[in-house]
Amino acid sequence: MTKLASCLWVTCPIIIGAGPSGLATAACLKQKGIPSLILERANCIASLWKLKTYDRLCLHLPKQFCELPFMPFPADFPTYPTRNQFLDYLESYKNHFGLEPVFNNTVTSAEFDHRHGVWRVVTSGPEQEQIEYVSQWLIVATGENADEVMPFIQGMGDFGGDILHTSSYRNGRSYGGKDVLVVGCGNSGMEVALDLANFNARTSLVVRDSVHVLPREMLGISTFGLFIWMLKWFPIRLVDRFLLLMSHFLLGDTEKFGFRRPKTGPLELKSISGKTPVLDVGTIAKIKSGNIKVYPGIKRITSVGAEFVDGRKERFDAIMLATGYKSNVPQWLKGGDMFSEKDGMPREPFPKGWKGEDGLYAVGFTRRGLLGASFDAKRVAEDIELSWRTEAPKLVDFTASLSL
Ligand SMILES: Cc1cc2nc3c(=O)[nH]c(=O)nc-3n(C[C@H](O)[C@H](O)[C@H](O)COP(=O)(O)OP(=O)(O)OC[C@H]3O[C@@H](n4cnc5c(N)ncnc54)[C@H](O)[C@@H]3O)c2cc1C
Repeated sequence: MTKLASCLWVTCPIIIGAGPSGLATAACLKQKGIPSLILERANCIASLWKLKTYDRLCLHLPKQFCELPFMPFPADFPTYPTRNQFLDYLESYKNHFGLEPVFNNTVTSAEFDHRHGVWRVVTSGPEQEQIEYVSQWLIVATGENADEVMPFIQGMGDFGGDILHTSSYRNGRSYGGKDVLVVGCGNSGMEVALDLANFNARTSLVVRDSVHVLPREMLGISTFGLFIWMLKWFPIRLVDRFLLLMSHFLLGDTEKFGFRRPKTGPLELKSISGKTPVLDVGTIAKIKSGNIKVYPGIKRITSVGAEFVDGRKERFDAIMLATGYKSNVPQWLKGGDMFSEKDGMPREPFPKGWKGEDGLYAVGFTRRGLLGASFDAKRVAEDIELSWRTEAPKLVDFTASLSL
């Protein structure tokens, strides 16, 4: 049962989400002497990384592109830190900046009160108790990956085995010797398929749409680092041609294994649609050696397996949905025009999407990973600093005169 709401006037910015974006923003504000209140639905920081990722996960990009503002990764961390190392880094980051998120507080609504010129943010706590926080600044840092995308596939309800989203997958230990179908070939789907094959599961992968697969490294240099450097000197189309040539040289003709390449090059496609190329960490080799089979789209799921659009029918013991995540902002942010109802992302593309109206900000919605989040966090802190110096003293006086 919902308990009576209490109301807290907060004289500092409210940040929703204690993932890397929320922590980075709080740290940038703190560096400017501005406190903040972080509200987090989980019972820990970085819940995506701690609770929803698989054991073998390492950062997909080299560490220098993933560090948060004002604190590099420890020098003895490898180029691609493991999930646990990344979590240790975030814990140290939180402690270093003295950040204390309020855990187990899910934001259920946030709305701008035009009459008083403030944001009213309602949270639901562990006992379903509601608290309303009121502030002049609201920073949305709930992530592009807040909720799992669970597709509807005909026949799903009839399947006799387990169907689970990759957010519940830790490792393939219990799948050895079993037939497992992975649906989706983004970075997570490709890596989970590799992990299952390493645990001797008979693994199959559904590749429905066209996708760019690139090697994670080219001649010992990270592909990401290489194209960031090349883009400084060459036009995007030329860099794309180089990447495709190198990929062909290092991975072979991936179309032969069922990966249709989009007509637009990987970087151009990323900038137009936000679709991220897959960085291969060994899955293509397993496909080449026959350890992982590739299928086209699923027509329907049967009680014992799946039927594919090319007419083939196969038996499976389990199905992993590597169907990605989506933003949850439209579920709780009321009014305003900053975020699209459709996908929960800022309507303005990078680099403009960080600032909205009435003291509303977004951090971590750039489709550019942690690098984009750090960029946003710094811009947001700089912008808030401008109003903080004039508004904060007024707010303190104002709240002192109120009995809420
Ligand atoms: C498997 C995987 C691997 C990745 N690897 C990389 C990589 O190598 N490099 C890179 O740059 N990026 C990578 N990414 C992208 C990833 O999104 C970022 O690394 C990072 O986690 C984004 O941080 P964030 O704080 O914006 O979002 P999140 O990490 O998702 O944090 C958002 C937080 O908000 C909380 N929250 C959500 N809704 C509410 C609510 N209503 N109320 C209160 N709290 C709420 C969530 O519980 C969560 O803790 C990867 C993503 C995945 C899924």
